Amino acid sequence: MTTDKPPILQLVGVRKTFADFAAVERIDLDVRDGEFLTIVGPSGSGKTTLLRMLAGMDQPTEGNITLRGKRINDIPPNRRPTCLVFQSLALFPHKSVGDNIGFPLKVKGIDAAARRARALELMAVVRLPESYLDKNVMKCSGGERQRVALARALAYDPEVLFFDEPLSAIDYKLKKTLEKELKDLHRATGKTFIYITHSLEEAMVMSDRIGVMRAGRLVQVGTPEEIYNAPVDRFVSEFVGEVNTIRVRREGGGWQGVDLAGALSVAPPRSGTLGEEAFVVVRPEYMRFVAPGEMADNRFAGTVVNEYSLGSRIQYQVRVGERTMLVELSRGRALGAEAGREVTVGWDAADAFTLGG
Ligand code: ATP
Repeated sequence: MTTDKPPILQLVGVRKTFADFAAVERIDLDVRDGEFLTIVGPSGSGKTTLLRMLAGMDQPTEGNITLRGKRINDIPPNRRPTCLVFQSLALFPHKSVGDNIGFPLKVKGIDAAARRARALELMAVVRLPESYLDKNVMKCSGGERQRVALARALAYDPEVLFFDEPLSAIDYKLKKTLEKELKDLHRATGKTFIYITHSLEEAMVMSDRIGVMRAGRLVQVGTPEEIYNAPVDRFVSEFVGEVNTIRVRREGGGWQGVDLAGALSVAPPRSGTLGEEAFVVVRPEYMRFVAPGEMADNRFAGTVVNEYSLGSRIQYQVRVGERTMLVELSRGRALGAEAGREVTVGWDAADAFTLGG
């Protein structure tokens, strides 16, 4: 558990402007010691700018960054107990795996035998075979080079490791493997990992907590479960996966669909109170086809328009009145609901979340 440890990094009112443009807008954040925190957000939302300030490559225009209580705003990267991994890899191309990993130790004046021994230990941590010690790093595959870079970062023995989109250029299968390996590695090292990506899928797999950025602001920080099942607003709900968003209006003590004709059973919001209008958000996997006589809090007649295979799951696009609803079923539960078939789609109020209008 990382929750009861004091924060290792603290950001208070951190802001970064370029001329009169605020790339990062007054961020408050406690990073817990030993956690895997991922910052996600669309392109241009300020992730890299935030990371550059954390790593010491840029200074905040306003606010403070402290590491274990010490202000580090203007401490350069090489004098921080932190390390940026994978950025363009930056390995020495003419050197062996062992020499690359041992480089930080060489700088510290550690002798060759001790460097070799430590390189071998770190290679075991990142699961590189011992036989790679003398292999030229350029003869390694892309995935292997990532591990070399990570092992070299660990050789610095940093307290915090930063990752800037390390897996963005890697093919899907290797990426899936590396995501899981990175998560295992995080556990094995007990270090604090701060990871930046625009891929929520990556964030979901690896992180203890996820921070979602939008237009320079950190709009929500929470566990993957909280971000997915209790997003604070429509932006987060839509950024973190596909959704059916239904506008509803108060009418006669209940709720009436605006773009779906009919009364809806609406769960109370997780926080705050609702005004006259609200949005009901249902993830496709919480929607189902409702058989005649079967119970569902909300049900609407529709027509299947399309069917997509998502591998282990099948997604249906269903036309309901003027709009399209997404229903996702595991392959085992799929109905064979071919295009044109008349269906009833439905969900239970407790399986949806409600956001203010
Ligand atoms: P991406 O996912 O595309 O890398 P990002 O979320 O990392 O995006 P940033 O690179 O932090 O976003 O950029 C945030 C905003 O700040 C962008 O609008 C960008 O154009 C602007 N910006 C970043 N660096 C500078 C700079 N040195 N000078 C001026 N504007 C900058």
